[in-house]
Formats: sequence, structure tokens, C-alpha cells
Amino acid sequence: MNQHLQKLVELSSIDKEMSSYNPKIEEANKELEISAKNFDEISNQIQKLEDSNKDLLVKISKNESYIDELGEKLEKKKVQSASLKTEKEIQSINIEIDIAKEQINFANEEIARFENYIESNAKEVETLKEQVQGIEDEFKNKEKETARILEDIEKSKAQIQTKRDKIKSDVNVKVFSFYESIRKWAGDSAIVPVKRKACYGCHLVINEQTYSAVLLSDELITCQSCGRIIYLPEE
Ligand SMILES: [Zn+2]
Repeated sequence: MNQHLQKLVELSSIDKEMSSYNPKIEEANKELEISAKNFDEISNQIQKLEDSNKDLLVKISKNESYIDELGEKLEKKKVQSASLKTEKEIQSINIEIDIAKEQINFANEEIARFENYIESNAKEVETLKEQVQGIEDEFKNKEKETARILEDIEKSKAQIQTKRDKIKSDVNVKVFSFYESIRKWAGDSAIVPVKRKACYGCHLVINEQTYSAVLLSDELITCQSCGRIIYLPEE
């Protein structure tokens, strides 16, 4: 095989090896993202429940003030009613007293309702906090693991890069830039073998003229259909 071609085939195999790390990097980052997302979701849920409990406490406090106000009002009405003479006046103040009592009852019911919500929210928060602890630990482990995986990958890539640089220095500059220009669109299949007279890049049969040129193998030949560099693999 032509020497340029030989080097390009080597270079291409190194480039493929380099690309093979991309899905591994993606996968490692994706798993970390999922773990972070789980952690965020549960943290947000906890935050919402805690905020809701704060709101409920404010509501309870408002109702308590209201009950105090009504209590005072009630006391005044009671004192007032003792000094009343006419039946009509007494009847009217009794109605007011009844209304105030009802309002107090209602406010107390509201408080009880809010307290129930607070209690159930607090229970939920407790459960979620247990979960979040587990998820946080898991996330931290995953973070360490991902960093380790990425570091290993970087080391391997650096070794491959060194190999690539060495081969590149052996390849003619023009040949190299030709290869790179095809790689821009063809990716790792910039140089492909010819098998059963077909280009392994586009899978189309190459014509006789191109095939004869490939057989001679003394210059770089491209597939007449797709433009990739083609070569005849050695048996
Ligand atoms: Zn082709």
C-alpha cells in the first residue's frame, strides 16, 4: 500500500479511537445530571412545603388576633347588656353576642384546619428529608465517580493524541489537510476500504476506472460517488 495511504489508515483508526470516548463522556455527564435533577426536585418540594407552613402560621396568627378582638368585643357586649332595660335592646345585643360567638368558633375551626395542614406538611417534609439525604449522598458519590471516569478518559485521550501527533508528523502536509477536509463532513469515515468493489463509506459500487486506480494504489483515490478516500485493504 502507498505510504501516504498507510499513514492515513493509521491516523483514521486513531481518530476513531478518539471519537469512541465521546459517548462515554456524554453518558457519564448525563448520569450526573439525572442525579442532580433528582436532588433539586426533592429540595424544591421541601422548600414549597416549608413555605406553605410559614404561610399557614401567619394565617393562624391572624385568626388568633381576630379571636382576641372578638373576645374583647364579647366582654363589652356582656357588660353592656347588663345595663339594658328594654326587651328589644336586650334581644338585639344578644344577637350581636351570638354572632361574635359564631365568629370565634369559625376562627377556631380555621386554626384547627391550618394546624392539620401544618402537621401533614411537616410529616411529608420529614420523609422527603430522609430521601434527600440518600439522594445527596448518591449525588456526591456520582460526582466523584464521574470526575474519576472523566479523568481516566482524559488520560487515555492524551495518550492517543500523542500517537496522533507522531503519525501526523509523518504524513505529508497536503495529504493531511486533504484528509482533514474530508473528515469535516465524513467524520470518522473519511478514509474507507473498498470491499467487493464497493465503497465502505457510501456502499455504492465504484466504477472500473476508479477501481483500477485503487488497485495501482500509487496515489490517493477518492470514491467517485461520495468523495471519501478509498483504499484496498491488505489481505
Ligand atoms: Zn463512496
